[in-house]
Amino acid sequence: MDIGIDLGTANTLLYARGQGIVLNEPSVVAMKEGGRTALAVGTEAKETIGRTPGSITAIRPLRDGVISDYEAAEEMIRHFVKKAVPGRRPRTRMVVCVPSGVTPVERRAIVHAAQRAGAKAVHLIEEPMAAAIGAGLPVAEPRGSMVVDIGGGTTEVAVISLGGIVTSQSLRVGGDRLDAAITDYVRKEHSLLIGERTAEDVKCAIGSAWPVPGDEELEERTFRIRGREKVRGLPKTLSLTTREVRAALDEPVESIIAAVKVTLEECPPELSGDVMEHGIMLTGGGALLPGLDLRMASATGIPVFVADDPLDCVVLGSGRCVEDFDGLQRVLTGA
Ligand code: ADP
Ligand code: MG
Repeated sequence: MDIGIDLGTANTLLYARGQGIVLNEPSVVAMKEGGRTALAVGTEAKETIGRTPGSITAIRPLRDGVISDYEAAEEMIRHFVKKAVPGRRPRTRMVVCVPSGVTPVERRAIVHAAQRAGAKAVHLIEEPMAAAIGAGLPVAEPRGSMVVDIGGGTTEVAVISLGGIVTSQSLRVGGDRLDAAITDYVRKEHSLLIGERTAEDVKCAIGSAWPVPGDEELEERTFRIRGREKVRGLPKTLSLTTREVRAALDEPVESIIAAVKVTLEECPPELSGDVMEHGIMLTGGGALLPGLDLRMASATGIPVFVADDPLDCVVLGSGRCVEDFDGLQRVLTGA
C-alpha cells in the first residue's frame, strides 16, 4: 500500500493509492503527563484542547511548522496510518510533505517517524510543491507559478518552474497567529480572556481581510463569544463585529502580503513576469479567509486565485506522486 501524508501543523491528511483521501483529522495528540502512549489522537484529542485536567496535555506536535514534539508526532503518524489503512501493510511506501524550511535533523526525524509507522520506503516532498501540484498548477513547465500555502503555523510562498522551487519564503505566520491576534484584541479592547478554540471560531465565522463586494451580509454580522473577565474573573459574553475582527487581523494579514511581495522581488524577472500574467494561487486553510485574495491582488497588482478545496491541495499533490510511483519505477527499471 502506498500512502501520501500531509503532516500539517493544524490538520493531517492521508491519501491511499487508488482510494483518494482516506483521513482528515486535526494534528493533535492528548498525552498523559510523563506517559509515552497517547490517550486520544486527532478529532477526539482536539476536543480536549483547553479542557484537560492538569495531568493530561493536548499536544500539537507540529505547532510552529517544525516538529516540536517528536514522540507525539510519531505516535500520531502511527495512529493515523493504522486507522486509515487497517490490516497488514506490506511494502508500504510513503510520500510525506514537509515545510520547505525544515532542517536536515527534522527531515531525518520525519523519515524515522514514518518508518516506525510501518513505511519501508519514505520520500519527502516540499509542501509548496505538493500544494502547487494539488492546485493544478503546471509545475513541470518552463513557466513561473506562484503558490501561497497558508496553514495553521506557517505560510509558505514559493515560485516554481520546471519541477523545482526557484525561490521561497517560509514565515511563522498562519491561522494560529490570526487566532492569537483576535485573542489579543479581545483582551485589550474588551478586557475579556478567551481560549484559542473560541478565537478560531470567531475567525472562521466572521473573519475577513478586506470588505468583500457582494457580501454585504458579512459586514452586518456579529458573533457572540464567551470568556472570562480579566478583572473580576467572572464568565461574560459579548458580541464582536466583522469590522472589529478585520481590524484585529490586520497586522498578521499584512505580514503575509509582505512575504509575497518579497518573494516577487527576489524572483528572476522572467518568472515574475509569468506570475504577473497567470496570477497567484492561494492554498491551505488560510486561503478561506474572505477578502484575502482581493487585498493581496490590490497590494501586488497581480490577480489572485483561491484553489478549489484549498485544505486538500497538499495531500492531493502527494497523492499524485503516490499514484505515479509505478510509472516512476517502470522508467527506472526500463520495464
Ligand atoms: P496546516 O497545513 O498547517 O495543517 P491547514 O491548511 O489545514 O493548515 O489550515 C488550517 C488553518 O486554516 C487553521 O488555522 C484554520 O483556523 C484555518 N481555517 C480553516 N477554515 C478557515 C476559514 N473559513 N477562514 C479562515 N481560516 C480558516
Ligand atoms: Mg498545510
